[in-house]
Amino acid sequence: MNIVDIIIKKKNKIELSKEEIDYFINSYVEDIIPDYQVSALLMAIVLNGMTSNETINLTKAMINTGKTIELSEIDGIICDKHSTGGVGDTVSLLLLPLLACFDLKIAKMSGRGLAQTGGTLDKLESIPNFNINLTKDAFIKQVNDIGISIIGQSEDLVLADKKLYALRDVTGTVQSIPLIASSIMSKKLAIKSDIILLDIKVGNGAFMKDINDATLLAKEMIKIGKEFNRQVICVITDMNRPLSKAIGNNLEIIEIINILKNNCNSRLKDICISLASLVLEKTYINSNRKDIIKLINNKINNQEVYQKFLDFVNYQNGDISYLKNLNKFSKAKNIIKILAKDSAYISDINAMSLGILAMKLGAGRIKKDDNIDYSAGIVLNIEINDYVNKGDVIAYLHTNKDDIDEYIYDFNNAISYSKKESVKENIIKKVILDE
Ligand code: URA
Ligand code: CA
Repeated sequence: MNIVDIIIKKKNKIELSKEEIDYFINSYVEDIIPDYQVSALLMAIVLNGMTSNETINLTKAMINTGKTIELSEIDGIICDKHSTGGVGDTVSLLLLPLLACFDLKIAKMSGRGLAQTGGTLDKLESIPNFNINLTKDAFIKQVNDIGISIIGQSEDLVLADKKLYALRDVTGTVQSIPLIASSIMSKKLAIKSDIILLDIKVGNGAFMKDINDATLLAKEMIKIGKEFNRQVICVITDMNRPLSKAIGNNLEIIEIINILKNNCNSRLKDICISLASLVLEKTYINSNRKDIIKLINNKINNQEVYQKFLDFVNYQNGDISYLKNLNKFSKAKNIIKILAKDSAYISDINAMSLGILAMKLGAGRIKKDDNIDYSAGIVLNIEINDYVNKGDVIAYLHTNKDDIDEYIYDFNNAISYSKKESVKENIIKKVILDE
């Protein structure tokens, strides 16, 4: 087989065979074919697409380049969840303990944040002593004992994705439905869960800007899941605005604990309840949506979910005295009040701009191995359509850095005001289930 023939075939929009796709992936991982040829093929895939057959074969070939993790020692229905990445996206940390309270088994491998997006592992590690590196046996034991464990992504899963993603990143070939679908699904399928909830973010703070593309991506990932006998539930959610009020690592943990301990109202809680009900509708026999939502609310009200979160953190060696007394968390040296510029309705809170600002404040990484400041970030006091008076405190910026004027300027640029209320948009834009 010859890689040049494969490139030309894809250039001419002819479907690649399973053997050709296997050859491309295996030879690339083994360094037999160079980056420049793979770049040409990737660009041909970006431009000419792939059939579902090709995408499924690509996903299979990628999975076979690494270890897979059997979870057969876990009793019960195993549920995994993945978000394509957003700003202030704390969904996993609320939703997963909640699902564990319904006897679903949560065995999740998570990633770190990059650029404007936060990562679940970094948020968890902002709790002192939290351990994300468990052996496979410890991971499985914990899931069997308390129903939930979240650890770091194992290094030896899907080797092809690490190499391909790095190449795509520098060759303008990230934006492609078959390439994104195979990249995400290969990693999810390498771990043998039963249900996979995929939260596809659309909007300025996400890498997918368009809902039609997000829908096509969802359908493709469901098809791949079906091929592997997994149930995939896709939701497309808004990422034009940050999801939670806090953006930043320990700030997001503090927000979650406040919601769970005091049962305060929040957009974040509402979306987690909706997502949980979608999953539970599939797994709970003889229950309708309304009853399920009632059960969910009960478990939040009676602090069962809060207790599950404590058990989970405690099991992974995290110091739960911080969760019981949130004042113990380290605080940034500068906490800057932001005052409303106008007396008006808040009409926009730009997710991308605030994600980038949070990163500048110290909460995120520009490069993969940058250090992050767990105490840094943004706490919003506003939501869309809140009416504010000029001079009201609308947010706090937390930072150990000193370019305060620049941060205030950036924050103000991310906020828009309007004399009229704006049309209310749903956070969950679409739910796509296996037909
Ligand atoms: N996330 C992934 O894991 N892969 C992609 O290709 C895009 C987003
Ligand atoms: Ca994730």
